[in-house]
This record gives sequence, C-alpha cells and structure tokens, in this order.
Amino acid sequence: MFGKAIRKIAGIIHGPLRMIDYGDRFDGKCVLTFDDGPSENTIKVLDALKMGNVHGATFCVQGINARKYPWILRRIVEDGHTLANHTYDHSRLTELSAVKIVQQLLMCQDAVNDALGKQYSLTQMRPPYGSFNYRVLTIAHALNLAVLLWQVDPKDFLPENQRNSDSIVDTVFDRAVKSGCGGLILLHDIHETTAEVVPAIIRLLISNGMEFTSVKELLDTKYNTKDHTLSLSSRIWRTARQSH
Ligand SMILES: [Zn+2]
Repeated sequence: MFGKAIRKIAGIIHGPLRMIDYGDRFDGKCVLTFDDGPSENTIKVLDALKMGNVHGATFCVQGINARKYPWILRRIVEDGHTLANHTYDHSRLTELSAVKIVQQLLMCQDAVNDALGKQYSLTQMRPPYGSFNYRVLTIAHALNLAVLLWQVDPKDFLPENQRNSDSIVDTVFDRAVKSGCGGLILLHDIHETTAEVVPAIIRLLISNGMEFTSVKELLDTKYNTKDHTLSLSSRIWRTARQSH
C-alpha cells in the first residue's frame, strides 16, 4: 500500500517511471554502457570512445569507486558521457530494506557530487546484477531515476571471456546487429580485457550501420512512441508485485 502511494506521488512529481527493459528493441541504435567503475581501465575506455568519435556512453558507477578515482569521474563528464547510479558498493538491492536501498542510492549520489566538486543530479540507475523488485522500482521512481537494464550482455566479466576476448565482440555483434535489437550494451570498465576490445566493438558496429546514441535518446524514443501505461511490461509488474 505504502509503495503504491509513493509511486502515485512520484508519478505526479516526476511523471511515469522510465525504464529500459530487457525486451525493448532499438533497431539500428545502441549505447555503450560501462558498469562497476570507475577504475584505471576506464581511461583506456575513454580514449577508445574519443578515437571512435562515440559520444553519450553511460557509466554506471559505484559510489565507492567514484571516491577512489574522482579525476576519472571528472573526465567521463568532460568527455560528454553520462553518469548513472550503480549504488554505493554494488549491493543486491532486493535483499535490502527500503531505508537501506535509499541509502545506497543517495550515498552514490553524494560520492559523485564530491568527486566532481559540484551538484550533478544522476537521472539513471542500474540495479546491480539487474536485480530489482517493486520496492526498488518505487524508490528509483521517487528519486527520479530511470531504471536501466540492457539488451546485449556479452558477459565480459566471466574469466573464460576475459581470456578469449573475441567471444565478447562476437556476442555483441550477434545480439546488437544480427538479432537487430540494438539498445544498451552491457560492459564492465573494471576489466582490462574489456577496455582493450572497445575499439573493435566500435569499429564493428559502425561498419554494420549501427548508430551510437545516448540513453536519454532511447528513453525519449520509447516514451514518446508508446502509451505510458504500457511502458512497464506486464511481466515486470507481475514479478514486482509477487516479490513485494
Ligand atoms: Zn555491476
């Protein structure tokens, strides 16, 4: 009941919850998203984006790492990319109380502000492990955060894929281009091998006609073309209600 009331109030203040769900399709358009950093490998990623003339990537940062690498966080913003909230220390939000979820998100926001030395309102969040329930969605909505899942997951974090980086590039190509779903490509800028394959991913996608865009543009595309009431698939609300 309480969650419903919060969602209603958040709806009045912020409009409907905006979310990029696993099932969304964005033919011909994609966004590179990098989770868990920043780390020293992020610099290599930023150089690759610059070389490839790719703007508007999203970096889903952990507050704890924003505190460790404030200068890298500043460069992400200076290079024209977007920061998103990935909690303070990568907690699985579905296992936390509402108060702790809010704390995780606000502590990440504070770390970002401190690192940048100015107010930077995060407007997107990605739940660690893609793990969410009704409570997480309600709190994200109340904090005016769009929720980001993904379309393309090459599982770059797996040791076998770190050893065989071609598999990361191949999976991105299969999902984003061959299956034609485009959308958010999930990578992790804490891994050196991932940072090293970014130039190959950029080249491959561009040479196959993919356009790099931003999360904001994908969200605007989705919510301008669909009825808001359909913006969350029934599956999500069913799952969310069950786990509430
Ligand atoms: Zn993560």
